[in-house]
Amino acid sequence: MGQPWAAGSADGAPARLPLVLTALWAAAVGLELTYVLVLGPGPPPLGPLARALQLALAAFQLLNLLGNVGLFLRSDPSIRGVMLAGRGLGQGWAYCYQCQSQVPPRSGHCSACRVCILRRDHHCRLLGRCVGFRNYRPFLCLLLHAAGVLLHISVLLGPALSALLRAHTPLHMAALLLLPWLMLLTGRVSLAQFALAFVTDTCVAGALLCGAGLLFHGMLLLRGQTTWEWARGQHAYDLGPCHNLQAALGPRWALVWLWPFLASPLPGDGITFQTTADVGHTAS
Ligand SMILES: [Zn+2]
Ligand SMILES: [Zn+2]
Repeated sequence: MGQPWAAGSADGAPARLPLVLTALWAAAVGLELTYVLVLGPGPPPLGPLARALQLALAAFQLLNLLGNVGLFLRSDPSIRGVMLAGRGLGQGWAYCYQCQSQVPPRSGHCSACRVCILRRDHHCRLLGRCVGFRNYRPFLCLLLHAAGVLLHISVLLGPALSALLRAHTPLHMAALLLLPWLMLLTGRVSLAQFALAFVTDTCVAGALLCGAGLLFHGMLLLRGQTTWEWARGQHAYDLGPCHNLQAALGPRWALVWLWPFLASPLPGDGITFQTTADVGHTAS
């Protein structure tokens, strides 16, 4: 029997514990934001047009974020259900003893998901699922829109933070933002002030983390590499930036950031991949 709280289940569903923790964190951020906007100092003062644009941006970011989270969790990136028998034994194929199957090039076994993943990139701890051939697009879009949403929330918290800054010394504010738990436990701040500092910290840190992840994966995307291949300095699948973008995001790679359900079918099957050497042979 599996351990659904610790690892992915046998039917390919993501592990539940990371998902529950991430959902709880998102709910805490949402509740604090509601408190600040409804009961606290309110949103930054804006004119009607700017307010409408801001609401439209928030709706766009949230729809994209939730849509990509749904797509990421729904798509199984593993070899489950993929017909591999009889296709193996070519260059780059290997035998996985845990899965008891021949597995194609660029795939890798994940001990958390307990299965081999096609074009495995890495295991996402926050969502409890591997990033691979079938869910790389929603993963990248999710990073982009998560960074956007977190930055947006940080801006919305601005008036509450400046009101707090006016009421306290800069030293007190610095201590509150750097050590919110210590300030709460020593009784120096109220629960509302602690919550504001905690949410601000997590939003800024989260946006920086997502931004760094986006830059790193943007670099991999242009080079046609997975994280695993980057760590080993392998460039065998680099077909040039334009081909690499199409291979990972489909023919409408420039538009997939705008809407999670925009059709952009991947050109490959996650089993066979064109290599730099193949392209060289074709050209010569
Ligand atoms: Zn395996
Ligand atoms: Zn995994």
